[in-house]
Amino acid sequence: MAELLPLVYHPIYSDFPLPDGHRYPLQKYRMLKEHIESDVQMHSAVAFVEPASLNPSRLKSIHRPEYVDALLAGSLPLAKMRRIGFPWSEALLRRSLTSLGGTLDTVQQAMECGIAIHLTGGYHHAHYDFGSGFCLFNDLILAATEALTYPGIERVLIVDCDVHHGDGTAALAVDNSQIITLSIHSEKNFPSRKPPSDIDIGLPNGTDSESYLHHFCPMLTLALAQYQPDFVIYDAGVDIHTDDELGYLNVCSDGILERDRFVLTQCRTLDIPVAAVIGGGYRTEQEKLVPLHANLISAALSVTAFGANQ
Ligand SMILES: [Zn+2]
Repeated sequence: MAELLPLVYHPIYSDFPLPDGHRYPLQKYRMLKEHIESDVQMHSAVAFVEPASLNPSRLKSIHRPEYVDALLAGSLPLAKMRRIGFPWSEALLRRSLTSLGGTLDTVQQAMECGIAIHLTGGYHHAHYDFGSGFCLFNDLILAATEALTYPGIERVLIVDCDVHHGDGTAALAVDNSQIITLSIHSEKNFPSRKPPSDIDIGLPNGTDSESYLHHFCPMLTLALAQYQPDFVIYDAGVDIHTDDELGYLNVCSDGILERDRFVLTQCRTLDIPVAAVIGGGYRTEQEKLVPLHANLISAALSVTAFGANQ
């Protein structure tokens, strides 16, 4: 039997109400899944895993309990909902809890298979007692704390390659020596306040593929050598792409593929399991995001023997 690459996905990812013209690329998750299904070779090498919803009590170990309760009850003040950027709805909560459950399932699948990918996730702007930038609860920190419950996992490295700084993740991990944070981002972009990660690489506007990889690759190698993590959580945001509507970098699709391959190859070589999330990517023409996110699946298939009959 061939081993298959686990892809965690639920139809609810593209199914919650948003006002017309909202920036959030709601349909890209569904489109990405359909793209994978339409590619015979890719489809034959992957296995879709449907996550269960997270029990919200789990969130109170990383977020302020009053914040969790207010969001669940729909009683968060309007100004705080505006900071998150979504109108409150039961469906939004269901979607959010399912995607958090999905990131946890991705951790479990990665422990078993070496690499697993979540076809959403990367809520790195969620802080202890507030959400922002389309992030309600921080799935990356939740995943890191989950990974640390496994035997032999003493240290987790979160590699955040979304174009926006991982401010919530950095703040939530600041006092935890078992969670190491690396953020490579556009320096002049959201969020304006950037609490320090363990490693921050702030890039100038217009950084191209060559320069991006020149900054990123040696730093990842160094982080892996210095911190010797037992598990990696990888946010493979594609909003570093030159045509992204919320990013100011000039990385091309091949540059994204090379970045993804580098992360997964390094971890594979060191035998470190990786749970990856697809992260950000913003285009009005959402279908144009699909091949960029599909790079991550191609990269995972290129560095492993998933799908190969042995
Ligand atoms: Zn982003």
